[in-house]
Amino acid sequence: MSVPRRNPGELEIDLFCRGLRIATGVDLRGDARAVSRTRAGLGSGLELVIPGDLKDLWVNVPVEEDFAARSPYVLEADAGGHAVRDARNGEVYRVRLPAEPAWYRGKTSRGVLMKEVGVLQGTYLGVYVSNSCMFWYRDEPENCRFCTTGFNVGVNEVAQKDVEDVVETALRAKEESGVTFVHFNTGDQNGRGLQQIAPYVKAVKERVGALVGVQAVPPAVDRDLWQYDWLRDLGADHFSFCYEFHDPRWFAELLPGKERTVGQGAFFRALEYCQARMPKGACSGEIIAGVEPLEATYRAIDYITGVGAFPTVCIFRPVVGSDMEHYPSPAYDDMVPVMRHMYVRCRERGIPIGVAPNIEVSLIVNPDDAQYLVPRDLRFRLDRLWLKTLKTLARPKFARELRPRRVKGQLETAKERPAPAALADAAARASAAIPV
Ligand code: SF4
Repeated sequence: MSVPRRNPGELEIDLFCRGLRIATGVDLRGDARAVSRTRAGLGSGLELVIPGDLKDLWVNVPVEEDFAARSPYVLEADAGGHAVRDARNGEVYRVRLPAEPAWYRGKTSRGVLMKEVGVLQGTYLGVYVSNSCMFWYRDEPENCRFCTTGFNVGVNEVAQKDVEDVVETALRAKEESGVTFVHFNTGDQNGRGLQQIAPYVKAVKERVGALVGVQAVPPAVDRDLWQYDWLRDLGADHFSFCYEFHDPRWFAELLPGKERTVGQGAFFRALEYCQARMPKGACSGEIIAGVEPLEATYRAIDYITGVGAFPTVCIFRPVVGSDMEHYPSPAYDDMVPVMRHMYVRCRERGIPIGVAPNIEVSLIVNPDDAQYLVPRDLRFRLDRLWLKTLKTLARPKFARELRPRRVKGQLETAKERPAPAALADAAARASAAIPV
């Protein structure tokens, strides 16, 4: 059966699933953002933009993995720019390759290359505050099985970011690339991930002026959830919870470090705690589709939207060098209904999507990217109207957030609080184990 022409949303999903070959003679140097393996390795692809009538879609397309070498999609270049050709049916799709920003080659006043401080993932600035995730450093590594962070330390990024470097990089990224959102992420830091991120949140809010997102392994016990309130006082606008797999057996097997240190329930409790205190859609639950049974992925989407958060659904990528590099890439026919379900559930539950200014995440199918997958009926048009109204109403709030402002939180506050309970418990266990 011949393959029909894809609309922009379908093409995005097909590219995630099948990857892309680069035609001989197409030289990307100078034309595109370099392929850089950061952020658990998932940013290992080529950033491109698929133009569309509803919105343009940003995609980080796999190009280095084995399955990409067999892709029917081929990137070509001509006088008009770049296009993706589907070898199965000859269809051609014009695409745009976002150029590497000039500030990537800039240096901070401490002499650090800015692209080693933070990188654009779509249109936002991603800062991995420390790429030494402790799960990699056990006698028996407990890293998440899809991840390659342990191999990236000191290769593509500075291992531990300096606050001043981050501020200077974020200022340039805002000025030259129009960045509105800075996202801080860290792997396992022995229960100190949220505290580690705090100084960066405050500095960006007060000296750059941007929406700020935070992602870290959540506290193991509920009495440490106060750290999220503290981070909100320091300026955090968004928390994301990467629990990846909804079925507890898949979670335990593929995320051994998270399973041993905090357990899946910690992600749910933290997500529910934060979302209950923040505007609808301010938090997100991050999952990977295409590994665990699809039925679990559907349940994850129902659960996340059910608590008022939005789902960030990543199509599994068997990244070169990861423990799962030989897993198959997911099937397009499976992923389209998953993404459609994500869009429909957000709509049914009134989760505002695509309202914040200029935030396009290239590693996932953004919830509003999936509007290409549903019929353009009356319900669709009413929903678009509702989102447009919300966007207009939210404009003054976002304009305020994009100006540097004093925050009410203090970094010192954390010192007055009890140490995170997980650490205290671990210390107590350690001292109990010392023979006296
Ligand atoms: S928490 Fe998991 S995904 Fe994140 S850096 Fe550590 S091993 Fe990788």
